[in-house]
Amino acid sequence: MAYQTVDPYTNKLVKTYPAATDADLEDALAQGHRVYTDWRRQAPAARGPILHKVAQLLREKKHDYAAIMTRDMGKLIGEAEAEVELCATIADYFADHGEAFMAPQPLTSSHGKAYYIRQATGVLVAVEPWNFPFYQVMRVFAPNFMVGNPMILKHASNTPGSAAAFEDMVREAGAPEGAFKNLFLSYDQVSQAIADPRVSGVALTGSERGGASVAQEAGKQLKKSSMELGGTDVFIALEDADWDAVYQAAPNARLRNVGQVCTSSKRFIIPASHYDEFVAQLAAAFKTYQPGDPMDPATTLAPMNSERAKEKVQSQIDEAIAHGAHVAYGNQPIDLPGAFIQPTILTDIDKQNPLFSQEIFGPVAEVFKVTNDDEAIALANDSRYGLGSVVYSQDPAHADAIARRIETGMTTINAPFITSPELPFGGVKNSGYGREMDEIGFATFTNEHMILNT
Ligand code: NAP
Repeated sequence: MAYQTVDPYTNKLVKTYPAATDADLEDALAQGHRVYTDWRRQAPAARGPILHKVAQLLREKKHDYAAIMTRDMGKLIGEAEAEVELCATIADYFADHGEAFMAPQPLTSSHGKAYYIRQATGVLVAVEPWNFPFYQVMRVFAPNFMVGNPMILKHASNTPGSAAAFEDMVREAGAPEGAFKNLFLSYDQVSQAIADPRVSGVALTGSERGGASVAQEAGKQLKKSSMELGGTDVFIALEDADWDAVYQAAPNARLRNVGQVCTSSKRFIIPASHYDEFVAQLAAAFKTYQPGDPMDPATTLAPMNSERAKEKVQSQIDEAIAHGAHVAYGNQPIDLPGAFIQPTILTDIDKQNPLFSQEIFGPVAEVFKVTNDDEAIALANDSRYGLGSVVYSQDPAHADAIARRIETGMTTINAPFITSPELPFGGVKNSGYGREMDEIGFATFTNEHMILNT
């Protein structure tokens, strides 16, 4: 597919980018390998100032980077600016902690003095999605820059402007040529790169289908991979929740980035006693979202990232309704040229409904009624995904006990899902494997080299 920016608010083609040639890929691999070899002789602390400079550039040019993302995929300019700020925080975090995460760790052994040291493994390929065009890239780039693993980026075909801007930023911060290379690669070229001996692994964030295909390529080559895939995250409000807090949090937990968030709350699990009021409050809140130009700070409902994405979500809504789902709010056309979907609430989704087992990547909330905690947990775990989850309860022990029973990689209690560089990010089941962020994510593509001196 061609790498193009098509403004989702106007549906107009903004720019087409040239595809990478095989020679471009070879140059990137050769340069990346040279940088890896140099970095193996360098302490990670030497790279910290460059990563801090990346953070500084992000803060200085926040609006410019945000506008590039908004033009590429239509997110609200305020949300894009918040994403740039988060990226700066991630860059600073790994610049500050990289040296400590790489420090030798003593081991207790009866055979002598033993320790392990984390070392770089080589060039990484990162395959990233359009929904957070800077943040998804930063989650892999910042830790691996400190580790000493150069990176080749294959970004989504509809966010080439963001991909190019990220590369320019890293170069401007003073990183050596080859430390980070964006290439407009085909799927075949991604497979070619994974097979190359200079590449040590591949990180992908995206759909189950894309993940399975890239993981298979990595498996064939015995290369490490990490997979950050989809989710059908639950928002479980328990009887003892602070219900004002629930009503306050639920709308944006679903509608941030027009619902195009892997960890947005998609399934709301509500006790029967509060069900009607919850649906009414959610509908009232959804009604206040104002569609418009995402560059205008007054707009609160952005278009979806593309016409194709809009059509997919609409077809999922239609199919769910055809199988008995009830529209409690929304599902009306929006009279604007862009790829808009009205925030929609669906109820009465039974297990036979195709939507029950699908991820819906748009502004659609599914609300379920339960009568006790066991039912809530059973429903939450009745999914082939296991990414994130949210629990509301005013009793910390109750919330904690429920959180531990949910089959997901992450749970946030009494707040919509939170991501931050010190919190490991990732899922279980078909939501993928491996972690990004924190020391756990930092170590994904390192060699824990054991050294025993007898
Ligand atoms: P996608 O189709 O899998 O695309 C993601 C990236 O993978 C894009 O760069 C895409 O390139 C590339 N890709 C797909 N198949 C490939 C293949 N066979 N070989 C090489 N590259 C391939 O995902 P999407 O549908 O656009 O993104 C939304 C999905 O991502 C949702 O399921 C969402 O939940 C998930 N997601 C997960 C996380 C997480 O952290 N767990 C975060 C955000 C999103 P093209 O654009 O060129 O097709």
